[in-house]
Amino acid sequence: MAQQAGDPTLSVLSEESQRIDGKDARSMNLTAARAMGEAVRTTLGPRGMDKMLVDSTGDTVVTNDGVTILDEMEVEHPAANMVVEVAQSQEQEVGDGTTSAVILTSALLDAAEDLLENDVHPTTITAGFEQAGDHVASVLDDLAIDLDAEDTETLEAIASTAMTGKGAESEKDHLTTLVVDAIRAAVQADGTVDRDAVTIKTFAGSNLADSRLIEGVTVSKNPPHDAMPTDLAEADVLVYEGEIEVPELETATETRVSDFEEVTEYLDQEQAAIQEDVEAILETGADVLITEGGIDDPAQKLLAEADILALRRVDDEDRRRLAEATGASRISDLEAATPEDLGRAGEVGQERVRMPLWRGDARPERITSFTDVDSVAGTIVLRGGTEHVVDEVERALEDSLDVLAAAIEDGEILPGAGAVEIELALALEDAADGVSGREQLAVEAFADALDISPRTLAENAGHSPIDALVDLRARHTDGEVSAGIDAESGELIDAAAEGIVEPRRVKATAFDAAIEAARTILRIDDVVSAGDLSTSGDDDGGAPGM
Ligand code: ADP
Ligand code: MG
Repeated sequence: MAQQAGDPTLSVLSEESQRIDGKDARSMNLTAARAMGEAVRTTLGPRGMDKMLVDSTGDTVVTNDGVTILDEMEVEHPAANMVVEVAQSQEQEVGDGTTSAVILTSALLDAAEDLLENDVHPTTITAGFEQAGDHVASVLDDLAIDLDAEDTETLEAIASTAMTGKGAESEKDHLTTLVVDAIRAAVQADGTVDRDAVTIKTFAGSNLADSRLIEGVTVSKNPPHDAMPTDLAEADVLVYEGEIEVPELETATETRVSDFEEVTEYLDQEQAAIQEDVEAILETGADVLITEGGIDDPAQKLLAEADILALRRVDDEDRRRLAEATGASRISDLEAATPEDLGRAGEVGQERVRMPLWRGDARPERITSFTDVDSVAGTIVLRGGTEHVVDEVERALEDSLDVLAAAIEDGEILPGAGAVEIELALALEDAADGVSGREQLAVEAFADALDISPRTLAENAGHSPIDALVDLRARHTDGEVSAGIDAESGELIDAAAEGIVEPRRVKATAFDAAIEAARTILRIDDVVSAGDLSTSGDDDGGAPGM
């Protein structure tokens, strides 16, 4: 794939640049993009495998999560990157279904390649795919099941389906209850869900079973002084966007210190300033002080004497959540602070979260929770044996929270386990008859490509995909719209009845994103690159590290 002789652009491109066009460009792009689907295929479904990803610094992630895998792969090929973007946009818009979206994109490109080999023009293919896409919405309309936000059992089924295959199995019921309770509390009066009000804090060194939901906000910093109170009722909270510290001498640029006396004088002034800061805090009547920066020893002592619980170096996200939950203003000038700036928590309490012994770093030992607050905030305190476990289960819970929010907001769910894909494939096969010319081939190819999802679920569970597909099609032809494949047993099941359900948004977004990406990649017939593409293309063709 070197620069082509006689290429008129050669005279205007730099020497390192490279140009690949026509069939070569398309075939290179399709190969690279399809490799992304191959890279994540084996992770789909409850029996999907995990991948271990090691980055250049040696950090290791073990995951089953499509978007996490692709993000960690550091893909370079531009067309392969477009597929990574499918996963990223799926993650952003719904938070789940990333693997499904990617393997569908890959399957569509596979189908397209066959058509190209049979001299079907790329424009015809994309037009056919778009026509197929137009049918998706109406088929999903027919299949959608209305969701009642009060129906706990179904909410738990949705949460559980999304959590599947990501290390949460052993405590699935417990964790499912936690996410459902957390999201329920975040439903607003207008029916939307304040998804950001729910966060997860992870702590290794315990059991998943010890995980719990705190209806409020937590801060994972140890109080700096032992004499500070640990539990408070009806606490007034001051959130200070600053520090209570003497600035380091070298950073105090305005002060030019030349001798000992001047240094002492400078420090005295600063001590006085700290004293003033603490007095200003006392004047507001605060019981709890949260600061962005550090708090000096003398200030800690003064605060402890005044029975104030102080937590320092609290990160921005926690300060924001705490201010929102308690109604505190985030003040940056202590002198100007008034009692109106304080927030309120009915209860403040601390608990120890043990760290594994091998952790030598300064991770927190205690968390402080602010509950009985005036908001919907919830914090899932996720405990688990090791960092790898809690990290992967955290991804599972994030997915679960996202899909619950989507399902409650939209009020519509669909059967999973491959049922939707088969139903859609059958509908498209019917619809293809009415499509004229060669676009018909593209609609049929789209229908075939949809098999990828049930086929992969069967394969990953160690069952014959051919038998499963034949049986599934037969059931759907008989009108069993919710027939899917139980990825544990390989048996056919009624997915909706078995509680394998997903929000409509997960499927609809995945179909849209896959069609969009396939169209974009198919339309490219010319790649002009400032660097050498042939090597990155080869690398990605083999899916790096896989
Ligand atoms: P994604 O990144 O696409 O969410 P997952 O690995 O989470 O990938 O797998 C999701 C797929 O697994 C969906 O098609 C869902 O319907 C299916 N699934 C989940 N649980 C089961 C189950 N118990 N039996 C069969 N399929 C299941
Ligand atoms: Mg999933």
